[in-house]
Amino acid sequence: MRIRRVDVHVLKSPLAQPFAFSQGWVRQRSATLVEITTDDGLTGWGEAFAQGLEPPEIAAKAIEVALTPLLLGEDPRAVEVLWHRMYHATRDYGRKGTIVSAISAVDIALWDIAGKAAGLPVHMLLGGAFRGSVEAYATGFYRISGQGESARLADEALQHHAAGFRHMKVKLGYGVADDIAVMEAIGDAIAGKPVRLMIDTNHAYGVADAVRLGRALERFDLRWYEEPVAPEDLDGYREIRARLSMPIAGGENEHTLYGFRDLLAARAVDVAQPDIGSAGGFTACRHIAALAQAHGVAVNPHVWGSAVAQAASLQLIAALPVANHSLFAAEPILEYDRSSHPFRRALITEPIEHVDGRVAIPTRPGLGIEIDRDVLARYRS
Ligand code: CA
Repeated sequence: MRIRRVDVHVLKSPLAQPFAFSQGWVRQRSATLVEITTDDGLTGWGEAFAQGLEPPEIAAKAIEVALTPLLLGEDPRAVEVLWHRMYHATRDYGRKGTIVSAISAVDIALWDIAGKAAGLPVHMLLGGAFRGSVEAYATGFYRISGQGESARLADEALQHHAAGFRHMKVKLGYGVADDIAVMEAIGDAIAGKPVRLMIDTNHAYGVADAVRLGRALERFDLRWYEEPVAPEDLDGYREIRARLSMPIAGGENEHTLYGFRDLLAARAVDVAQPDIGSAGGFTACRHIAALAQAHGVAVNPHVWGSAVAQAASLQLIAALPVANHSLFAAEPILEYDRSSHPFRRALITEPIEHVDGRVAIPTRPGLGIEIDRDVLARYRS
């Protein structure tokens, strides 16, 4: 079996209602998808993480000009070999960021093909499913005006609860006083309901303000506090982790076994959050999961992409061991982006849906999805 074609699809759609996270305004949803076709007619799909401010064309170009020549004519099932080939060929200008996202997209597509060739879902190739379904958590609470939106955000919490979610992640980082007002309003709204909150500031603050916010929120029993400081500031992470009682999470902007080695060795996080579309695909997440296990750190993947990234993340989550085994160990939970996304659901023929806050792990071969080519064509730029 040989790789015959590598096609890249950039999808974009402007948002009727732009929204903000702490780093800026998101005005369009986009995706960089890769489609790899073999000489015997199998097709694999992958996706590069495109965060809200990231032009999807960067990963697309990297796949086209830097990675495709390394892939054509090769056996797509040699996932480890091809990962190292791509990483080594781009090391001197890559290692982090969009180049690794491009590698991630290709790697996901290769595993999709390997699964289809074997007649097995990817999680079986990774060693089997620790779980057949996963609890989803609602990611939302973005801003539409900026500050002073606590009443609307409290109402949003009630909507997530009514939809069946028992875990919710609140976007913060809009000023410590505004953040605290938002959390107080949400806390009042959900009082007495079986809801556990997480917070995510997207590294809006330095250590002093990050600690001040965390101390003000100690009473919320947060499942985690995500990206309190910039991803480069490992000392800052370690200091915050020492000064606050809640688990500290991070890693969506970290890449490969090398980046996570540094994060884990620094004792920077309680929860490592590789994004399969930017950390380096299944191959890198397999490396990262082993490293995290050796450090006693939980892996709880980040995902904020289209249905392809969601499907890949589900296969990865199925195959993740818990970091610290016990009868009632904390299981990983699936990030379920509730913000506006015109094509995320429609892109596959059977959308990934939660039922009462849980999502089943697909069991069909590969990623277990089929792309709707009409939708692909409609949003292709
Ligand atoms: Ca985040």
